[in-house]
Amino acid sequence: MTRKHGEATPFRQAALIIVDVQNDFCPGGRLAVPDGDRVVPVINQLAPLFPVVVTTQDWHPANHCSFEAQGGPWPPHCVQGSAGAELHPALDRQHVTARVKKGMRADADAYSGFEGTDDTGHTLAEILRQHGVTEIYVTGLATDYCVRATVLDGLKQGFKVHVVTDAIRGVNVKPGDDARALEEMRSAGASLETSAEVLSHADVPARGSTGAAYRGSEGSVGE
Ligand SMILES: [Zn+2]
Repeated sequence: MTRKHGEATPFRQAALIIVDVQNDFCPGGRLAVPDGDRVVPVINQLAPLFPVVVTTQDWHPANHCSFEAQGGPWPPHCVQGSAGAELHPALDRQHVTARVKKGMRADADAYSGFEGTDDTGHTLAEILRQHGVTEIYVTGLATDYCVRATVLDGLKQGFKVHVVTDAIRGVNVKPGDDARALEEMRSAGASLETSAEVLSHADVPARGSTGAAYRGSEGSVGE
């Protein structure tokens, strides 16, 4: 019965990918995404559903090519070892399986989590395959840059990709960039779902009925 229940769980071969939920991309940070921190409670609600949870982080040297001083488009952000490069303090880390860092070379930028590696040098795709993951649910910042690039790379790598639409936020350098990015991801084969839809796929009713039966027998023993 327990085994059957586990086999029916839709997230058994799925991973939650948390893209760049870092202080510099949240309000008060060096490259703040409007309402970027609003994704945190949504992600915290989803994380316990997944057997594999991977965070990505921009992790730039101080002279990174994407910074304005080097002719790049962005203000300095997510400098290695700085407070701005840390994950948002309210992000629940207890379910995190692996942490991937990207953009570590001064002369190359990396928007996609699939361009990053963990501390032992494994790429995101390697980590996912090691865990038998076939589909990913992508959340985080920012919709029109690193979320977009991670989703498109995930599809190219052969994963089934879901985008959790209320667990992402866009920069919108040009108004509507986030909507255009979503349409591009959808056209490329990603499915767009709200966190409520994702949660509705979890086997919550079965868990609830087990709890009710347990409380019932406990009650009769207690009396
Ligand atoms: Zn960056």
